[in-house]
Amino acid sequence: MTTKPLAFVTGGSRGIGAAIVRRLAKDGFHVIAVARSADKLQQLCQSIQSEGLSAEPLVCDISDGKALAAAIESTIEKHGRLDVLVNNAGITKDGLILRMDDADFDSVIQTNLKSAFVAIRAAARPMMRAKGGRIINIASVAGVAGNAGQANYAASKAGLIGLSKSVAKELAPKNITCNCIAPGFITTDMTNVLNDQVKEAAKALIPLRRFGLPEEIASVVSFLAGPDASYINGQVLCVDGGMLM
Ligand code: NAP
Repeated sequence: MTTKPLAFVTGGSRGIGAAIVRRLAKDGFHVIAVARSADKLQQLCQSIQSEGLSAEPLVCDISDGKALAAAIESTIEKHGRLDVLVNNAGITKDGLILRMDDADFDSVIQTNLKSAFVAIRAAARPMMRAKGGRIINIASVAGVAGNAGQANYAASKAGLIGLSKSVAKELAPKNITCNCIAPGFITTDMTNVLNDQVKEAAKALIPLRRFGLPEEIASVVSFLAGPDASYINGQVLCVDGGMLM
């Protein structure tokens, strides 16, 4: 049982999610860091705890809806609250539409979109009972503008935006807000796999002429989770160095 406000962050083992876990712990949350890699989660949480802050690992494959719902339920049972839900875990399985098979389409939708639906459904009732909550979904500029070679990914992120706006309308009377962040190119494992030519071409499209850092997404999560964002609902914040405008 924690006396701190509680944040549940999926995809918290590395990249943007790990930065979100660190930032929310620094902001005073007890953070549940969720992912499949037990070792990475353990290391991150130990490092946060060594700074006198509060985080705990929770190993879960979020593409398994039953496991994800159970993880949220057991968290609420253990700590008695859920103040902030961050649906951050995501995958890519890129390919041109003519070559994209059903499995690659379905698995990206399952991990990036269906998991957020399952998590929000599990979190909604306890947040309603508590008369408040913040839901933050990590979408992508690909979900706003589309991207060649990413039909599955862009569809999942556009779906996440539609899901978020619907939830924002549905749960606002209960003082629960739901917003999206749409990152541009951020330096993580997800973008490290791109070759130098693709990276340089991408940078040319970014007015700031650089990729973002995970911490530059985490700071926006921190804002949306905090008191200063109490009147922001149903929005998509592009955090992309000015790439989309
Ligand atoms: P990343 O470095 O590849 O990290 C992905 C995270 O998601 C990891 O913690 C991974 O943990 C977790 N994850 C993946 N599948 C999972 C599953 N089935 N169950 C539980 N956890 C799972 O990606 P990232 O760049 O930090 O991206 C984070 C989010 O931002 C994603 O939604 C991504 O689409 C979005 N985004 C990223 C960029 C970018 O440029 N990096 C741009 C736009 C949007 P395990 O492997 O340990 O399970």
